[in-house]
Amino acid sequence: MTDKTDEPDGPVLYHLDETCSLDDVEEGRAYQGYVNGVVDYGVFVSLNDSISGLVHESNLASPLEIGDDVKVRVEEIRDDGNLSLTPVHMHDYDEVYVGEHDGEEEEPPRTPIGELVEDDDVTVEAEILSVRQTGGPTIFTLADGTGTVDCAAFVGAGERAYPEADEGDAVRVVGEVETREGDLQLEADELEVLEGEDAQEVRDRLSAALDERAEPPELEPIVDSDRLRALYPRLREVARGIRRAVMKDRPVVVRHHADADGMASGVAVERAVFSLFDEAVDDTEAKYHKFNRMPSRAPFYEMEDVTRDLNYALKDVERHGHPKPVVLMLDNGSTEDDADAYRTLDAYDIPVYVVDHHSPDDEIEPLVEEHVNPYLEGGDYSLTSGMLCVELARLIEPSVEEDLLHVPAVAGKGDHSEAPEMEAYLELAREQGYDEEHIDDIADALDYESYQLKYDDGRHIINHILDVEENDSHDELVPHLKSLAEEAFGRQMDAARAHVDEVSLPNGATLCTLDVENFTHKFTFPGPGKTTGRVHDGKVEEHDGGVVTVGYGPDFCVIRAEGVGINIPDIVDELQEEMVGAGVHGGGHLVVGSLKFVQGRREDVLEKLYTKIAEAPLVDEHKEEVGEEPT
Ligand code: MN
Repeated sequence: MTDKTDEPDGPVLYHLDETCSLDDVEEGRAYQGYVNGVVDYGVFVSLNDSISGLVHESNLASPLEIGDDVKVRVEEIRDDGNLSLTPVHMHDYDEVYVGEHDGEEEEPPRTPIGELVEDDDVTVEAEILSVRQTGGPTIFTLADGTGTVDCAAFVGAGERAYPEADEGDAVRVVGEVETREGDLQLEADELEVLEGEDAQEVRDRLSAALDERAEPPELEPIVDSDRLRALYPRLREVARGIRRAVMKDRPVVVRHHADADGMASGVAVERAVFSLFDEAVDDTEAKYHKFNRMPSRAPFYEMEDVTRDLNYALKDVERHGHPKPVVLMLDNGSTEDDADAYRTLDAYDIPVYVVDHHSPDDEIEPLVEEHVNPYLEGGDYSLTSGMLCVELARLIEPSVEEDLLHVPAVAGKGDHSEAPEMEAYLELAREQGYDEEHIDDIADALDYESYQLKYDDGRHIINHILDVEENDSHDELVPHLKSLAEEAFGRQMDAARAHVDEVSLPNGATLCTLDVENFTHKFTFPGPGKTTGRVHDGKVEEHDGGVVTVGYGPDFCVIRAEGVGINIPDIVDELQEEMVGAGVHGGGHLVVGSLKFVQGRREDVLEKLYTKIAEAPLVDEHKEEVGEEPT
């Protein structure tokens, strides 16, 4: 196909498009036409919608009917504009398209899904996202990048229509747009599976449109922070992945730490995804299927949890025709303990995104789509997951920002963050009517309720405590839960306090130890981690200089340090190497973390741990080394 400046040598057949006029017609040339009228003295042949001429009966070798394609030569253009035509028989010719659409095949008219209007008769070209058989029609969910629509095809009650058409196929559907339970639905008269170039074109169009729509907005962090800005390229990548998943109807599974920071992280993302759903998913039931947020009790993605998630996802593929989900790990997920779970998901090509502020292991990098972690950009744990996830939520759906402005302060309080950003976050919260004490109470109430919820997301209760959803309960609920939490702490401290052993270490630090198995209430709030934390906070106030507190159970211990430069992930590595058969693993932050080991080696492990703590340098409150390193 060429234009007029590049004419072939041999015989040429010209095609005129609807933009051509008589001026484009030349005597002697052959044109593609069609019969538009039959009269006694010949047939009228159109070269396009507005140009036609007569083939005289004397030149017709065989009879023609209306609609027949016919190639004609223009013998004469008369002064009155009438054309005199004769049929031609051509072999081995080139074709030249004339008009605006030079060289393009004429495409069938196509309506973008985003422009469907009730009662229209349309042709839609799209990819099948999912197929589900109802008791009546077969429902194909279609996407073309401008939107998604359910398409109903009926051959018989409960009978699969177009069995050749399946998830992932590109199709052309001719049908009528109707309304079903408030949603537009396409009733298919004809559904054709596209092949080759046609199919590729549909996929390319979808992919290009999704890329454009999935692009997160251009934003600046809600507080001025270079540390946050440095993480923005990674955050944008996660936001793009989540937006793309929602637009392609992929469910989103969120796993987060079961504490105030983790809950704040999960809720921020949940609000954003739900807000995106409001454009695409109308019914509440669907939201519960397409977004699943669950707290993890362990500080990593346990095999038990990933197995459960995978099990449910695969059943949903069958029951609801859902595509496989994407997984988002929040305030969790950046350690080598997560790798087994990620490899399990990889067997099903389920992508994983991580937003965490725990000290990361390199091992997980090749296993995840994107990993947002302050440590990867020169920051540290003081920039908590909740702070990062409020930025992520804005990048997923900016309209949620106004409900979330006080959330980073809650997340920071929950994790006792001493981030330089903290003051700006507290100021932002004050502007929304939450003073510092109120923020602190929210964090404590969240921690308490997280414990009670165990494996449940507690969607609305948590929303009410965090005050991110319209409710009348927040003002009564938060002080109530806060006082329950304080009472529980009081009971735990009354029992524990008398059993804390204290020794002065050669490096000048104080080591406090507590047998949490035998001298605290078990299976109740606060658990061993928080109990140890509370003991530690008290000891820090009592002593000048560094304090390390270790709360130990039969096969685990919890570690908190202040003013002593320990590195818990490094200690775990060293113990693993030095103590064969002790089964040491665990980790966490540099100075806040936990270890697990086999019960029979507890005494050895703790002894080695205490030795390492005694060898650690003292550091000032800015976490910089002071004094001589002890030998
Ligand atoms: Mn956290």
